[in-house]
Amino acid sequence: MSNPIQLPTSRREELVRSLVRRELRFHELPKDLPAEEAAEIRRRALELMTQTPLDNIAHHSLDVQRASKRNCENFIGVAQVPMGVVGPLRVRGRCADGDFWVPLATTEAALVASTNRGCSAITHAGGAVVRVEDVGMTRAPVFRTSGIVQTQWFLQWIKDHDADIRKITEDTSRHLKLLEVRPYTFGTTVFLRFRFDSGDAMGMNMATIACDRAVNDLIEPATGVPCVALSGNYCVDKKPAAINFQEGRGKRIYAEVLLEAPILHHQLKSNARDLVEVQYRKNLLGSIAAGSMGFNAHYANVLAAFFIATGQDPAHVVEGSMGVTCIESRGPDSVFASIYMPDVPLGAVGGGTALDTQREALAMLGVSPDPERRGEAVTRLAEILGAVVLAGELSLMAAFTSQDLARAHEKLGRGEVPGQPLP
Ligand code: ADP
Repeated sequence: MSNPIQLPTSRREELVRSLVRRELRFHELPKDLPAEEAAEIRRRALELMTQTPLDNIAHHSLDVQRASKRNCENFIGVAQVPMGVVGPLRVRGRCADGDFWVPLATTEAALVASTNRGCSAITHAGGAVVRVEDVGMTRAPVFRTSGIVQTQWFLQWIKDHDADIRKITEDTSRHLKLLEVRPYTFGTTVFLRFRFDSGDAMGMNMATIACDRAVNDLIEPATGVPCVALSGNYCVDKKPAAINFQEGRGKRIYAEVLLEAPILHHQLKSNARDLVEVQYRKNLLGSIAAGSMGFNAHYANVLAAFFIATGQDPAHVVEGSMGVTCIESRGPDSVFASIYMPDVPLGAVGGGTALDTQREALAMLGVSPDPERRGEAVTRLAEILGAVVLAGELSLMAAFTSQDLARAHEKLGRGEVPGQPLP
């Protein structure tokens, strides 16, 4: 929080001047400077360099010492994102079983209102059944061999030293368990795709550190086969990829709900026949026509808002946006709707989860890791996420059936702000 130590004004001005003149770079401010003081000096220099007042970026309640050490270098302040809430959302998961109010941080008008409508439909229907598989976090270093003979010898060595690789990787964290090392080779290139159970953490840093140790302290010295890059893009992190779709990554989430005619009519202003047709022509045929890996209406919207609110890495929305929404006809007037998300990196500790607003958001959801119940906190988070993504899908799909989409955006995204002209 705010640090009592204040630099004498002259020293502060001297540092600001050095930054402005580029004699000093932003990360070169004295190490013993309190983090808040350093942020203020960077901001002042930026104000002078860009002729832009930065009062709003300066205004926040973050623990700067922590945020600038753990989350963001060259810290200058915050970007504020509006946060809304949806719910009550009834979730029938293994770790999340009950009604939840879910925070969503977004700048996209209509997203919260629309998702809230989906929550209402799900809750009236008795809740979404959600299940989560912990696939594990992956990292795949890439190696260069001299050809087939060395590749075969190398892969046999990896197999024969499974116990040593397990020990060296698991020694890097008591929360990490090695699940698999999967090789993939062509030409003179070998990928080893390591897959870890990382407890309640999303695990990307943990997996990277563990792979680094295994490669540098064991595999390279013992085999002489050089590692070209610790991440060989066969992981696959933050890129949409068929292997992640098929094999999964992070959490694999399934959620479903049966919606009968009154709920379709009253909550969603829709009907079974139109929903099934939009599902078929849009999510299925449209995605095929486009060569898309996202056979869904908008997982990315809900994911991004949920990720920002709860301290996840927003870049993982790229992979999380893959998946399949199904809406099947049940009887003449009902639908059975489900979502399948094969690749959702998610954490209840680590990353941005310890930041002040993100911690509050997680607490609202009752997500708090317990050493006695490994992985339950993150599973609970994943189950709530699955239900809220399903809510977002149902509402948007229903909006298409009633031609409501543009009208809702017009009304909610272009609302009148007192004292400001309409856009
Ligand atoms: P990540 O590896 O998820 O990218 P971090 O680099 O912040 O994120 O690592 C997560 C940290 O949280 C690790 O240092 C790990 O030891 C710690 N940790 C504390 N409690 C737990 C838990 N219950 N499960 C997993 N990790 C935990």
